[in-house]
Amino acid sequence: MFQEVGDHMGASSPFPVALNRPVTARSKWVRPKATPEDIQRLIDNLPWHVSSRIWVSQSTGCWLWAGADSGSGRGGEYGRVSIDGKTTAVHIYLYTRLFGPIKGKRKYLDHTCRARNCCNPEHLEQVTHRMNCARRDAAQRKLRRQLVSSTSLC
Ligand SMILES: [Zn+2]
Repeated sequence: MFQEVGDHMGASSPFPVALNRPVTARSKWVRPKATPEDIQRLIDNLPWHVSSRIWVSQSTGCWLWAGADSGSGRGGEYGRVSIDGKTTAVHIYLYTRLFGPIKGKRKYLDHTCRARNCCNPEHLEQVTHRMNCARRDAAQRKLRRQLVSSTSLC
């Protein structure tokens, strides 16, 4: 049984839309596992204006958002989508459709794939603000090291 498209936050159901069962995990910090059937149900129930703008990368598994984004610069490059007249971040929308509302101290979603325009819920992890910043800084340091080593070869 599927929910209506407009019921994206699962407000009328005790369970997330796509999971359609209680969220269970080893601890409250570990993201629950989604089965291939859960992912298929998520995809099958996305509004057309969302699903038609997602491109799946065969090499990384990223779901790359091809619609509007939050621009460039700080806080930029995140996909944005209109749901029920409200603009929201597409990665948060898909994550909450699959796993339910984000609760607790870990209210930031970190892109473990480091692709800001990816909205694959399985590439997202709930983290604290501090963890999110630390991971971002570590990723930037790694990128800088790679750039230095690649340019020093020239
Ligand atoms: Zn990704």
